[in-house]
Amino acid sequence: MNQPVTVQITSKEPPVSEAMPESLEPRCSECHASLTREQLKAALEVCPHCGHHFPLNAVERVAQLADPGTWREVGGDLQPSDPLDFYDSRAYVDRLAEAQLETGLSEAMLAGVCRLGGRRVALGVMDFRFLGGSMGSVVGERFSQLVAAAIDEAVPLVVVTASGGARMQEGILSLMQMAKTVVALDMLADHSLPFISVLTHPTTGGVLASFATLADVMLAEPGALLLFAGPRVIEQTTREKLPPGFGRSESSLVHGQIDLVVQRRDLKRQIAQLLALLEGGVRCDIEPIRPDSEVVPRGSGSLAQAVARAKKLALTSRGWLFGRDQQDRDPT
Ligand SMILES: [Zn+2]
Repeated sequence: MNQPVTVQITSKEPPVSEAMPESLEPRCSECHASLTREQLKAALEVCPHCGHHFPLNAVERVAQLADPGTWREVGGDLQPSDPLDFYDSRAYVDRLAEAQLETGLSEAMLAGVCRLGGRRVALGVMDFRFLGGSMGSVVGERFSQLVAAAIDEAVPLVVVTASGGARMQEGILSLMQMAKTVVALDMLADHSLPFISVLTHPTTGGVLASFATLADVMLAEPGALLLFAGPRVIEQTTREKLPPGFGRSESSLVHGQIDLVVQRRDLKRQIAQLLALLEGGVRCDIEPIRPDSEVVPRGSGSLAQAVARAKKLALTSRGWLFGRDQQDRDPT
């Protein structure tokens, strides 16, 4: 007779949010240097002493990436609901109301169409402060509407992720968002439009396992934790000590999971340059892409190589190529 198998998680991951409390004298959690709010703001919430990247909220991120005055929100009218009438230690509706009050956002993703470095893009930004950036029905629907907007306007998609994964208070409905976002991205690919993913600390669970890692080009901020489950849970389950830096951006780069680790101060410029390369609008030192040429592996270096790899994969898998003029695209 089969014995039931029980997987026991003995302790939870510590909270990963480490945004600076407004009321306290800021201190770097990495190098413990005393910082002023002004210093941090000037450095885009990056420690000027050790380079540690503190979390940015969605509004700050949009302000950093979008050209001023160009943001038009998509899916802003969507409001979360509580279809399961869910209650754990507190009612889900109370958690939602508190998150909305604290963040000023209606949900964990802000979506819109804007210009970035002069180019029009569909931009989605997740906010970890909103219930751990978890993906519920509204995040999935907003993502899908953002993809639809990108297709309507024939613009690339850029999404900045920060998420603890699926939103357990919405049960199976939150898990369904994984499939929904993947289908949306398939439609984007069918329209020959590129997707750039920017993974920030932390990007985990169902978001990492769905749209976040399906991009043509994947960038990450330094030191970001990019794992399905947290290191402590993995160690307890496998009973093995993980190597230092396991699951961080730098390790993901070395192992070919992502294309580039980008400092926050360089992020907008790098994305703008990527968009230009993908559109074929600037000269770059890459070989012409041929269907029989070798795929450039992720993690192998330059921006141009990342684009070459994305173009090559696009050619071999779907037969489309970025950088054609709009009228040259197959209208179907
Ligand atoms: Zn520091």
